[in-house]
Amino acid sequence: MPDSVVRLELLGLDVTEVPHIKVPWANFTFQGRGMRMTANNRDYAFYVIRRHEFDAWLASKARERGLMLQEETKVLSVRHDGNGVIVETDRGDFYARAVVGADGANSVVRRAVQPESARNVARLLEVLVHPSNGDAPRDHPPHLPDEAYFEFGCLPYDIQGYVWDFPTQEGGAPRRCWGIYDSRVDTRGDKGDLPNTLNEFMARYGYTPEDYTLQAHPIRWFDARATFSAPGILLAGDAAGVDAAFGEGISPALGYGEIAANAVVDAFAREDFSFSDYRKRVLGHSLGKALRTRTFTAKVLFSLRQPGIQRLLWWRFSGFLNWYINRFVINWTER
Ligand SMILES: Cc1cc2nc3c(=O)[nH]c(=O)nc-3n(C[C@H](O)[C@H](O)[C@H](O)COP(=O)(O)OP(=O)(O)OC[C@H]3O[C@@H](n4cnc5c(N)ncnc54)[C@H](O)[C@@H]3O)c2cc1C
Repeated sequence: MPDSVVRLELLGLDVTEVPHIKVPWANFTFQGRGMRMTANNRDYAFYVIRRHEFDAWLASKARERGLMLQEETKVLSVRHDGNGVIVETDRGDFYARAVVGADGANSVVRRAVQPESARNVARLLEVLVHPSNGDAPRDHPPHLPDEAYFEFGCLPYDIQGYVWDFPTQEGGAPRRCWGIYDSRVDTRGDKGDLPNTLNEFMARYGYTPEDYTLQAHPIRWFDARATFSAPGILLAGDAAGVDAAFGEGISPALGYGEIAANAVVDAFAREDFSFSDYRKRVLGHSLGKALRTRTFTAKVLFSLRQPGIQRLLWWRFSGFLNWYINRFVINWTER
C-alpha cells in the first residue's frame, strides 16, 4: 500500500527494486458491482509483491546497514529475570535489555506480555494460480488483467471479510493471487466455511480446486484494550495487532517499527526499560489511531451481512465509502 511505500522511503528504501506489479485500480464490489479506487496523488492503487522476494530484499537492506541477522534460530520462550530479558532459542539463550517481539500472529514473545493470546485472530486462505480463461459470471463484469478485486459477496456466507483477486507474478510470469479474509471481529457470528466459499467464488471465474493448493494463515488484528508491552519487552506488527478491516499488515508493521525503535532509544537514554509508556506511544501515533478506526470499521461493516444492506452500501453509497476509506482507513502516514 502507498503507506508502506512512504514508510520505506523514510528509511531511504525504494521498494520498486523488488519485482512487482503496479495495480492502477482496486475494485471494491458486492456481487460484482461497486466502486474502484486509486491512491491519492499517485499513479497506482498499490503494488503486488511476492512476500519471499520482499522479505529477502528487506533482510539484505538490514544487513547492508550493519544489522546482524541470526537466521534458522527458533525462539522458544521469552522471560524477564528481574534484570533483563532471557530469550531461549533452539541455539542457546540470549540476554537482552530490550526485546521487540515482531514474530507474527502466533508470536511467542507475545505470550510473555499477554498470555490469553487466542483472541482477535483473523483467518485467511491464499492461492497462486495461472490467469484463468474462464468467463465472468452473468451480471458480473470480467476481472481485468491489471486490476485488483475485493469482493464482499461472501458476507452472506458468514465470512466477515472479502474474497480477493490480485494480479501478481512469479519469476516474471503472470499469475493471479486469490484469497479469502475472515476477520472474525464478531465472535458471536457463525463461522463460515472458508475453503468452500473461496472455491465457489473462484469457480465462477473458471478455476477448479485441482488448479491450486490452499494455504492457511492467521492475522492478529488490533484491539486498543490489548497489552502491548511488559518490562523489557515490546510488541510490534502482527504480534501487537494490525488492520481488522482489510487485513493490511505491512504498512502497520513498518509503522510499529518506528514506534518501537523510538521507545528503545529512549529506554537506553533514560536507563528505564519498563516501557510503561509504550501503550500511549502506540495509541497516540497516527498508526494507532488508524488501526483503532479500522477495528471499528470492521465491526460495523462486517456486522451488516444482509445482502440488501451491502448492495446499498457498495452500489449506492460508494462515493461516501471511497471518501471514508481514504480519509480514515488508509493514508495514515499523511496524518
Ligand atoms: C494470506 C495473507 C495475505 C496478506 N496480504 C497482505 C497484503 O496484501 N498487504 C498487507 O499489507 N498485508 C497483508 N497481509 C498481512 C501481513 O502479511 C502481516 O500483517 C505482516 O506480515 C505482519 O508483519 P510482521 O513483521 O509483524 O510479521 P511476519 O511478517 O509474520 O513476520 C514474523 C517473522 O517472525 C518469525 N518468527 C515467528 N515465530 C518465530 C520464532 N518462534 N522464532 C523465531 N522467529 C520467528 C517468522 O519466521 C517471520 O519471519 C497478509 C497476510 C496473510 C496471512
